[in-house]
Amino acid sequence: AAAAARPGTAGSAALFERAVAVTPGGVNSPVRAFNAVGGTPRFIRSARGAWLTDVDGNEYVDLICSWGPMLLGHAHPEVQAAVADAVARGTSYGTPTPPEVELAEEIVARAPVERVRFVSSGTEATMSAIRLARGFTGRDVVVKFAGCYHGHVDSLLAAAGSGLATFAVPGTPGVPESSTALTLVLPYNDRAAVEQAFAEHGDRIACLITEAAPGNMGVVPPEPGFNAFLAQTCARHGALFISDEVMTGFRASRLGQWGLDGALEGWRPDLVTFGKVMGGGFPAAAFGGRADVMHHLAPEGPVYQAGTLSGNPVATTAGLATLRLATDEVYATVGAAATTIRTAASAALAEAGVPHLVQSTGTMFSVFLTDPADGPVRDFADASRTDTIAYAAFFHAMLDRGVYLPPSAYEAWFLSSAHDDRAVETVLDALPAAALAAARA
Ligand code: PMP
Repeated sequence: AAAAARPGTAGSAALFERAVAVTPGGVNSPVRAFNAVGGTPRFIRSARGAWLTDVDGNEYVDLICSWGPMLLGHAHPEVQAAVADAVARGTSYGTPTPPEVELAEEIVARAPVERVRFVSSGTEATMSAIRLARGFTGRDVVVKFAGCYHGHVDSLLAAAGSGLATFAVPGTPGVPESSTALTLVLPYNDRAAVEQAFAEHGDRIACLITEAAPGNMGVVPPEPGFNAFLAQTCARHGALFISDEVMTGFRASRLGQWGLDGALEGWRPDLVTFGKVMGGGFPAAAFGGRADVMHHLAPEGPVYQAGTLSGNPVATTAGLATLRLATDEVYATVGAAATTIRTAASAALAEAGVPHLVQSTGTMFSVFLTDPADGPVRDFADASRTDTIAYAAFFHAMLDRGVYLPPSAYEAWFLSSAHDDRAVETVLDALPAAALAAARA
């Protein structure tokens, strides 16, 4: 179908000009800017269900979903009502409140954790989990994987050192060498590298942290048994296994990535971090795990951790309403929409002759514009082969046809249970022309 006449983007352009004058890059989180794809971001005025409306009146099918949280779609009436009710009773007291108990009970019932502590962002969750692991074990070294993002925690903004089991170097200016000198960065899905790191440094390793299934270098599923192997290796060396489910939690499946591996294989992580879906679109995140480990947190134990807005009653009310509404049926709906869209994307790219790979875990997937002859994307080095120039052309062709994809080639495409036939059809209609644009790039 030909693209309908659209209202233009003058309003977004004007706001972006103002934004750049008062905010670095005009955005409050770098990936929102269109630096990787060119052009200026759209300023969104409102959203409902699967649709975003920008300040000029353009409508877009949303394939970002706030980078994961909006599992039920935007402005879900029951979540809105619960939030309105919470707001009417005041927004923050600095005392314990009922909804934080209920949300903690809901998470403990669903996820492999016995205790949970709320924070306000995924970054805080991983930062706190690592502090707790170090405090609990009395050890200093942290192991992570290249391409796994755990928020902007100094010690985790690390790039691999010169050898496999050598310590990391800062991944950004502003992180001192001393902050990454206790971090080991390994290639993902590489058992030999993990074994070597633990053989050389095992008695110093406090924890290994991994995305439960990486989604921040595009979706790179753990090879079968890889997470179980990590859990066992950590246990053998007295280190804690931290599964970062900030992105996958309550999204990849009802039980997160753990529902797709650990629950079936019979192992549990020592600590888990959560965010995104569990906040229902508000700033709420959490870390949790074994009771004997969590017991080391203040005020029960000596490891300090705190937050003025932690467990905020409005945010935890939104998260609770979202999780209660996130039934098996919701995951089936999201999964079906994901299957339709990833199948159609692959068909359109194939038709246009664009080399690509689609990878998924549960309801999450991403499209790599890379040659499938080189094999699956198993790690960050593989992910880096994706053709970012072709993706930029693809992205803009989709945007012009009313589909807002992540403005980066290294991201999952997020759907919601509000992605109904009309939303999915809009995506399917846009794909052939976008695939041709990618082919010509
Ligand atoms: N861990 C993972 C796996 C994430 O995907 C993210 C955010 N994309 C974070 C941690 C950090 O969360 P936040 O942006 O809320 O700090």
